[in-house]
Amino acid sequence: MRNFNVLGEVFMTGKIKPSYDTNRKRLADIIPLSTPFTIFIEPTRYCNFKCFYCLHSTKDYKDGEWSKTGYEIKHMDEKLYDKILENICKFPNKPKRIVFQD
Ligand code: SF4
Repeated sequence: MRNFNVLGEVFMTGKIKPSYDTNRKRLADIIPLSTPFTIFIEPTRYCNFKCFYCLHSTKDYKDGEWSKTGYEIKHMDEKLYDKILENICKFPNKPKRIVFQD
């Protein structure tokens, strides 16, 4: 927000705040946690991109790094997905965030 002082000079009244949580706690001071802060869920292994730094970029090659992992490219089983959600609901608190990733 821009304001002017008695001399007509522009000055800022807004505060610059960090984009991260300033109430962060030192993990070593609070473990074990009753509820995880973040939960990552990978509902599918499919990906249409081929980022050069990622294993997915090699999945079309017979001897590519992806073939060495033994991972199948498939969607998560729906029952497993439901079970994960049920178990998340059993935590005493809400997780801060749930990230769905491929
Ligand atoms: S999984 Fe992510 S990093 Fe890998 S190719 Fe797909 S978009 Fe890129």
